[in-house]
Parts: sequence; C-alpha cells; structure tokens
Amino acid sequence: MHIALSPRDLEFQDEVRRFLDEEFTPELRAAAGRQAGVFAEGDLNRRWHRILFEKGWVAPAWPKAHGGAEFSPVQRYIFESECAEAGAPALPAMGLQMCGPMLMGHGTEAQKAYHLPRILSGESYWCQGYSEPGAGSDLAALQCRAVRDGDHYVVDGTKLWTTHAHFANWIFLLVRTSTEGKPQAGITFLLAPMDTPGISVAPIITISGEHEVNQTFFDGVRIPVANRVGEENQGWTVAKYLLEFERGGVFSPRVKGLMAKVRHMAAAERADTGLSLIQDPAFRRKVIELEIELAAVEATERMVISKLSAGGAAGDSSASLLKLKGTETMQKATELAVEALGAYAAPDQRPALGLGANAAPMGPDYAAAPVARYFNTRASTIYGGSSEVQRNILARAALGL
Ligand SMILES: Cc1cc2nc3c(=O)[nH]c(=O)nc-3n(C[C@H](O)[C@H](O)[C@H](O)COP(=O)(O)OP(=O)(O)OC[C@H]3O[C@@H](n4cnc5c(N)ncnc54)[C@H](O)[C@@H]3O)c2cc1C
Repeated sequence: MHIALSPRDLEFQDEVRRFLDEEFTPELRAAAGRQAGVFAEGDLNRRWHRILFEKGWVAPAWPKAHGGAEFSPVQRYIFESECAEAGAPALPAMGLQMCGPMLMGHGTEAQKAYHLPRILSGESYWCQGYSEPGAGSDLAALQCRAVRDGDHYVVDGTKLWTTHAHFANWIFLLVRTSTEGKPQAGITFLLAPMDTPGISVAPIITISGEHEVNQTFFDGVRIPVANRVGEENQGWTVAKYLLEFERGGVFSPRVKGLMAKVRHMAAAERADTGLSLIQDPAFRRKVIELEIELAAVEATERMVISKLSAGGAAGDSSASLLKLKGTETMQKATELAVEALGAYAAPDQRPALGLGANAAPMGPDYAAAPVARYFNTRASTIYGGSSEVQRNILARAALGL
C-alpha cells in the first residue's frame, strides 16, 4: 500500500522541486498566500496556467496525443503533492479536469479539435452550469429549458453557484429538453460562449467575503446544435462521465500545506502559559490528533495510486471515502489555524486579501487568510457531492446494495 518511488520518480520529484523553486517566484508566492478560495483568482490563475503550459505540465493527466503531460499515476501524485505543499495557485478544475476529459470521451472530432487546444493554452476559461435553485444533490431535477429552433436550441432558466462564471468565457451546461419519462432521460449537454446574448451573471458574495460563485441567467439564449455533446436527451450519461473526473483528486498535500502553516503560526504565537502555542499540551494534542487523521487520508490516497499504477480501477467508494475524510480534515485544519491566530482572528482582514489587496494584514503577514479560508472551507463538504451523499454511496457499497 505504499508507493515505492523508483529512481525515475525521485528524479522527477527533484525536477518538480527545481521547477517550483525557479518559477513559483516570491511575488507569485505572496499573491498565492493572500488567496482563500478553492481556486485562485482569474489573473493569478492565468499567469500560473501560462507558466505550466509553457513547461508542458498544465494537463498532467491528459494523453500526449492531446498535448497533455501524460504523467503516470505516481508522477501525478508527486506533482500535485509538490505544488500543493509549496502553496502554488490551485488552477480551476472546470476546463482542465472536467470539460477536457469529458470532450475526449464524448465530444465530436470538431469539438475536440476546437476546444482541447484552447483549454490547454488557457485561451478558454470554463465554468460549470449543472446546479440550479431546486437541483443540487438531486441534479436530475434540473429545469433550465432548451427548445429546438432549427439549428439552435433556445435556452431559458438559471444556474446557481457557478464558480468563476465572472472570469469564464465558456460554460458547459445541462438543460431539460424533454419532460417525458424519467427525469434523467430528458437532459441534454450543451457548450456556450459566455458572451452569447441573453447570458448574464450575478455575483454571490459568500460568508468568507469572496466573490467566487455566481448565479447565471439564460434568457432566450441561442446555442447552436453543433455545440451539443452527445445526443439530445442523453446528456445524463455525459454529465455522469464528467463527474467521475470532478470527484477524483487528492486532499492530503493541501491539508499538509495548511498544517505546516498551523505549526508555523503556533510556534510564533503564545499560549496563556507564556509558552509558544505549539508547546502548549492541549493545542499540541489537537495538532497531533489531526496529523494522525491526515496520515490515514494520505495512506488511502497512496493505496488508490498503487491500484491505478497496477492498472486497476480506483473504485467509486474510494473516491467517496477520500472526498468525505479529505474535506473533513481540511476543515479541521482551518479551524486549528483560526485558533492559532488568536486575537488576530477577530479583526476584519478582508482588505488584506486577494489580488486587489490594498492594506497590510492586522498583525503578522500570516494573519490575512486563515479566517477567510476557514469560512470558505465550510463549503467543501457541500460541493462536489455533499458528505451525506458520500455516506449514502459508502453505505450502499458496504451493504452491497
Ligand atoms: C462554493 C460552492 C461552489 C459550487 N460550484 C458549483 C459550480 O461551479 N457549478 C455547479 O453546477 N454547481 C456548483 N455548486 C453546487 C453544488 O454542487 C451543490 O451545492 C451541491 O450539489 C448540493 O446541492 P444543494 O446546494 O442544492 O443542496 P441540497 O441538495 O438541497 O442539499 C441540502 C442538504 O440535504 C442533504 N441531502 C441531499 N440529498 C440527500 C440524500 N439523498 N441523503 C441524505 N442527505 C441529503 C445534503 O447533504 C445537504 O446537507 C457549488 C456549491 C458551492 C457551495
């Protein structure tokens, strides 16, 4: 269950470290350190995307035939771990990890030829139009309607929680083209440029104070039939295929990065005893308990990588287990960070956050982001399949249902 790194993998790990030392400059590090969101803001994404693209590493999982790096599962793990532990900007998943692989599996040759190079270069920036006010966990309840009119569909309705719709120039969306039969049977998968007349985006400012998500409205939007992926009314198959890519992923490197910050802060801050917080037995115990939990998540991730390396499938329940425990440990790490911050967690640090920051944080430099990260991370047990939904999947697998 452990991954024995081959000499080639160790060489690759060194190469990734050298690349990060050179390209993840102090300026980029400072900008990334002031980000609290799931994905870094648009401009920072674009810059980091470009750097990875030029290196040929922007799409670690894509096949070389489509311009990807085609890393092995172990190399992917090394790459993701090194980037996350260094605190490199998290690139949005919607284009590189969701739309691209979905098109490779279900797109027409024309769609692949047009979109894949643009996703890779960063020219297109995608958002995901799945959820609606009445359709989240129960996605098949979606109502956004598309009616065929010659060579176009005319779309009316709304999508909710569209992450980065305000940065995106393309959206993939699920629409209802039929109300006959099962709800899943009347769904169609479409692609649309965000500047199509009739599409508008309204910001949603979350409890962390960030503008990361939106509500997107469709008012008589004409989308060419050529932008349909798969057949009419068969979009559910395409939608589920795409979700397989959304749900995969590793958590432990990101949580390790957060725990390194917790330890750094706790070494600098004082407990009531006058000792540094990290020497305080009660706080130290919480840190170590969480690190043990994190070691279990990491071991599970490595088990999955071993299986994939041996040519096996990860299995649906591993993805659910990792989503459940990975997001829980991530939330706990952000709770410890707020605790370590002490009094500096009380003031409003938002003016010191983000690319447009116009103020220094109140207190040390590390005081800017932990509270916003704490609030932002509350959503991680909701998006990408809520914890309750993951528990249902695990229960069904365990009970053989
Ligand atoms: C920050 C953020 C970003 C997002 N980004 C996007 C995006 O870019 N594009 C997009 O399309 N969507 C996005 N989403 C939407 C996300 O996928 C949904 O929020 C999620 O699927 C849950 O749906 P819901 O919000 O409608 O809650 P509901 O499905 O209404 O759930 C409400 C509660 O009921 C529980 N519940 C629901 N069904 C069951 C069940 N069968 N058994 C037990 N408990 C259940 C849930 O766990 C939850 O606690 C985002 C959400 C958030 C919070």
